[in-house]
Amino acid sequence: MSRATRPHLPMRPLWLCRGCGAPWPCQPARLALLVEYRADRTALLIYLSTLMAEAGAQLSQLNGSAVAEDLTERFLTWARAR
Ligand SMILES: [Zn+2]
Repeated sequence: MSRATRPHLPMRPLWLCRGCGAPWPCQPARLALLVEYRADRTALLIYLSTLMAEAGAQLSQLNGSAVAEDLTERFLTWARAR
């Protein structure tokens, strides 16, 4: 990874990407996760579920606008598909 490349990691408690500023997991983060967990999709879903719970708690404290269905879509639905 070059020095110019910022990692696509979540910035808590806003859950925006440190690399590109998009709501995390952004597209590059999703791709990286799919590669990292390509041999174990179940582990990826467990990991994402944990993060989703954390994000849900933090986001609802911030602005009360975190909707469960939105977070499911954002954290899990893309990883289930295939
Ligand atoms: Zn990003």
